[in-house]
Amino acid sequence: MTQATGSGQVEVASVTKRFGESVAVKELSLTIPHGAYCCLLGPSGCGKTTILRMIAGHENPTTGDVRIGGRSVVGLPQVERGTAMMFQSYALFPHRSVLDNVAFALKVRGVGLPARHNTARELLAKVQLEKFANRLPSELSGGQQQRVALARALITNPKVLLLDEPLSALDEYLRLRMRGELRRVQKELGITFVHVTHTQLEAIAVADMVVVMAQGRIEQAASARDIFVAPRNAYVARFVGGQNVLSGTVESTMNGTAAVAGDKGARFAFPVGDIRPTRGSKLYGSIRRDRIGVEKVPPGAKPAGGLNSTVGEVHTLENQGSYVKVTIDLDNGEEFVAHVPDDAFFRSPLDIGDKVEARWSASDVMLLDDGPIALEPAAAEARVASGD
Ligand code: ATP
Repeated sequence: MTQATGSGQVEVASVTKRFGESVAVKELSLTIPHGAYCCLLGPSGCGKTTILRMIAGHENPTTGDVRIGGRSVVGLPQVERGTAMMFQSYALFPHRSVLDNVAFALKVRGVGLPARHNTARELLAKVQLEKFANRLPSELSGGQQQRVALARALITNPKVLLLDEPLSALDEYLRLRMRGELRRVQKELGITFVHVTHTQLEAIAVADMVVVMAQGRIEQAASARDIFVAPRNAYVARFVGGQNVLSGTVESTMNGTAAVAGDKGARFAFPVGDIRPTRGSKLYGSIRRDRIGVEKVPPGAKPAGGLNSTVGEVHTLENQGSYVKVTIDLDNGEEFVAHVPDDAFFRSPLDIGDKVEARWSASDVMLLDDGPIALEPAAAEARVASGD
């Protein structure tokens, strides 16, 4: 899909980027719609900054194309791309006033003093810093300096703002405030934001579209809500957090539900829709941390057992205010996390070391797309016939 020149739609088309022998980005394709707030999310080294730098023009793809507003920008100088970049270090000029810092890019472009100061004042008003215009950066707090950096990046009226870990230098309190501010400014301006982060909750909090990456590839690109509630595979479920991954081998399938045998006698029910996986094939599913009930198993008692439950020992407890994060060491050596609402938890509190049984409902399990699902012959034929 291409759009008329002038829009802030960003397309990364079959891009590979090599640095010598190492491949930072592998055959990656991604379309970010005009006016979207997109977060590139992934662990260190997964290639997210390299993508940002190729959109900005600091790097060129080894193969493939980068288009902005439907026009290829490979080889174009940065000023002709309609992009601007905001870095994690604010990189403000220490000896220039806030107003002159914001106006700087217009000075370089030969805009006269009154005009560039007027535009800079308008942008300072957008980030609620008009009254600090004459201060030096050293006379501002970290959060205020960050807002100056945002105003400065926006002064060239970019179609696409590129943000490289923009909040990582701020403390927790300012980070939360600033991410709300970024979102507000992006909505107000209606331009495309591409924001690189390795912080899951930051991505979910600000973005319309989250792109989860691993080793130079996209694992899932979807709305922030889908990334959180419907991760595509075990990697996304684990990386984004908020989910536990269950796995086991299929024993039988009936009425859209597979009975799955996990480790140590655990048995799960996975909703599989119209898929009929063969007996013995391996399935992965995810269950949200906040959809799990946890009950203490009194000393000497046997856990109730049964479908959709697992047994372990409380490893850590973290009170998060509205819920308590209960980390359980399972008998099979894996970790399982439940978010228990505060009222339920404090009605019958748990202690570290307690033996507990975690329980959930089959309808809350999401099937993950990991490994080939071997199909029963009849079902496989039906799917081929229907073109699925
Ligand atoms: P981080 O969160 O640590 O910044 P990232 O996901 O942004 O990581 P990139 O900076 O895009 O990752 O790097 C992806 C891979 O490419 C890494 O293995 C990195 O070492 C390599 N790489 C990046 N830039 C260069 C370069 N100029 N020369 C050689 N290798 C590079």
